[in-house]
Amino acid sequence: MGKVIVVGSLNVDSIVTVERHPRPGETLIGGDLQTMFGGKGANQAVAAAMAAAQVSMIGRVGDDAMGEQYIARLAAFDIDVDEVRVDPSSPTGHAAIAVAADGENTIIVSPGANGRVSVDDLGSLDDLSEGDVVLLQLELSIDVVEDAARRAAAAGARVVLNLAPYADVSEDVLSLADPVIVNEHEAQLMRAAGRDPRSVLITLGADGASWGDISVPADRVDEVVDTTGAGDSFCGTLAARLAAGEHREAAMRAAAAAAAVSVGWPGAQPSEP
Ligand code: ATP
Repeated sequence: MGKVIVVGSLNVDSIVTVERHPRPGETLIGGDLQTMFGGKGANQAVAAAMAAAQVSMIGRVGDDAMGEQYIARLAAFDIDVDEVRVDPSSPTGHAAIAVAADGENTIIVSPGANGRVSVDDLGSLDDLSEGDVVLLQLELSIDVVEDAARRAAAAGARVVLNLAPYADVSEDVLSLADPVIVNEHEAQLMRAAGRDPRSVLITLGADGASWGDISVPADRVDEVVDTTGAGDSFCGTLAARLAAGEHREAAMRAAAAAAAVSVGWPGAQPSEP
């Protein structure tokens, strides 16, 4: 059974509900501030750990209370945090999220320490073996993501690349990933950029997911509380199951099941391990 190594972001999400979004220059009164742990990298690491994988995380937090709490939280999920560095020069990454009454979000991400993750943080990827899965998203600098993918592939590990939030990744890196994971919107942007990777898994919200000739339905959900992080639950679980040696379809079904559970809780991560 392989390990899952997540190279990615750790953010604190600050969420305020508003009747409608403010216009430029306008001040609005919103609801009570909710603070939650997020960041696609850490969300996916938690999902992989919940799917029983042995997970380690590579990333950075700031030298602040939030960073310290975040490391403790990941450790409580049995995630190896030895390579989550405390960066003395930047605060922990933050996302300021406004949720309007119609459910539409606006999000401002302040990368902070995530933006300081460098290729020097990736040394342990050279020691991976076949069966290990390196799980990547695009909330770090693209150079770091591309270097991580190349090192992981060179070491014989499987690269799973979630192209979110969408950015143009070089063709050779896309061709290393098995799979590239995109939602419908990202799939459109990828095609518009003329990219056509060999292995693409598309998540289709309540319509499930497809990967080449395999399609799986979404699991039925009685009450949708918050779809934030459904994609991250899917990616983390898929990586865990592929690392466990499962075939694509079984891994996708497990991922869809975990994603369906995640739409039943608020925020991007469960409150308790
Ligand atoms: P997000 O950015 O909201 O985290 P995403 O846009 O990356 O999500 P989606 O395609 O919306 O990804 O959802 C990922 C997976 O989550 C889907 O493939 C599906 O399995 C599951 N899912 C999403 N929405 C629902 C839903 N309403 N009911 C059941 N499953 C869902």
